[in-house]
Amino acid sequence: MTTDDLHPQTLAVTAGRPPHEPDAPLNEPIWMASTYVAEGEREYGRYTNPSWTAFETTLGALESGQALAFASGLAAVTCVLDLVGAGGHVVGTRGAYNAVMTQLSDLEARGRLTAEYVDPTDTASWTAAVADADLVWLESPTNPLLELIDLPTVIAAAKAANAYVVVDNTFATPLRQNPLALGADLVVHSATKFIAGHSDVVMGALVVSDPELFAVLKGRRDLLGAIPGAFEAWLALRGLRTLGVRLDRAETNAEELARRLRQHPLVTRVRYPGFGAIVSVELSSTQIAIDLTHRTQLWTHATSLGGVESTFERRRRWPAEPSLVPDELVRLSVGIENVEDLWTDLYNSLT
Ligand SMILES: *Cc1c(COP(=O)(O)O)cnc(C)c1O
Repeated sequence: MTTDDLHPQTLAVTAGRPPHEPDAPLNEPIWMASTYVAEGEREYGRYTNPSWTAFETTLGALESGQALAFASGLAAVTCVLDLVGAGGHVVGTRGAYNAVMTQLSDLEARGRLTAEYVDPTDTASWTAAVADADLVWLESPTNPLLELIDLPTVIAAAKAANAYVVVDNTFATPLRQNPLALGADLVVHSATKFIAGHSDVVMGALVVSDPELFAVLKGRRDLLGAIPGAFEAWLALRGLRTLGVRLDRAETNAEELARRLRQHPLVTRVRYPGFGAIVSVELSSTQIAIDLTHRTQLWTHATSLGGVESTFERRRRWPAEPSLVPDELVRLSVGIENVEDLWTDLYNSLT
């Protein structure tokens, strides 16, 4: 069996392990090292760390590319936006992750680049807009509206226009969507979410298939210095090992909760893209949404997502959340608990 024959659920478990030799550890240990004895491959702790490499090898195998670990998802985003030359044009996803939008408008305000945003579901607007883009920033499903982009069509149009194509794959995870296989140049992950999966790590990653682009980004990471700690990388890989079972379970729970919520009299709309563990629910009033987030016992009111534990949040509680997101929308990050317990808690709190 070669690596190419293996399914992603297997690769998540088997990739990035030390060689099978007597007395070798089964997992790459945590390498606490700022420097290495000279004249080898490693040299210095800002350039590489075997604990990162184990994580990167595994994520790279899942996305069919070469991965680079970063201190956070946003650090990976910053490294990608650095590819846009002075005065370049970025075409982004309307309603993409808020800090990505803020970073783009900040760069625009400082005269570094220009940006425009496209309705994720409007494929005709995408194909027109990408024509003069230097970089196209795609996020699908979007957060928290869970809208989908026609990725194959938009990626093909953007590549025909010679733009860099980036897909933020945090919500879909490499087990549900592989943007490099669809022709994208770069994949961004907030490993903080499903990849690490236990609400205890902030980390990010990039994955690319072109070796030249990899070398450029590795060089940028060396200089920007936004590197993860060895312990964070070790934890993220430990989380990634179980992504297959966690996601299957959370997704089954999410499908069932979406189905039941659709029938609830206080729910006006359920947004669920048909895969993954995020469900957005619009309630019949903002007050009902606020009350829900304060009444539950199992569901924790918290930002972020992708952990084994179920959390939820009314996104408009953040002043910077765009008005595009309904005031009465609550985003659920469905965990791996028993679905009947999750439902009972929601049902009892929705009054
Ligand atoms: C959380 C998130 C990010 C940012 O990642 P951090 O790890 O918080 O820096 C980027 N994109 C999406 C879709 C996210 O959910």
